[in-house]
Amino acid sequence: MPIDPTLPYDDQNIFARILRGEIPCNKVYEDDHALAFHDIAPQTPVHVLVVPKGGYVSWDDFSAHAPAELIAGFVRAVGTVARQLDLVEPGYRLLANIGGDGGQEVAHLHVHLFGGMPLGRMIA
Ligand code: C5P
Repeated sequence: MPIDPTLPYDDQNIFARILRGEIPCNKVYEDDHALAFHDIAPQTPVHVLVVPKGGYVSWDDFSAHAPAELIAGFVRAVGTVARQLDLVEPGYRLLANIGGDGGQEVAHLHVHLFGGMPLGRMIA
């Protein structure tokens, strides 16, 4: 069920609980700004989610309200994860679903990192 991205941030969402360590995840990377972990239902051989450390519902909320240091740190973290997974040379895809038409289901901003196979020209 897609989320309503205009609702206030709910700190009981699943990724907030993962960030607080209340729910386990298969961690790939963590720094002061971001946590990356394997998606529980991978759509490609490599399917990792990167989430910023902060209460932001979506890309819209994050880009409008997050401090520049967190935005920069999050962007750097996404790139670091891709390099750590050796995806730069074969290539990979980043995707953020936003709101209802975007199909976003978890109301904490996350970027999907897909790789490990030729992804063609599909949208997602
Ligand atoms: O972008 P969207 O919100 O639609 O994607 C949510 C993603 O979070 C899904 O790919 C789902 O498999 C993943 N997920 C997860 N661990 C959870 C709950 C959801 O990896 N505990």
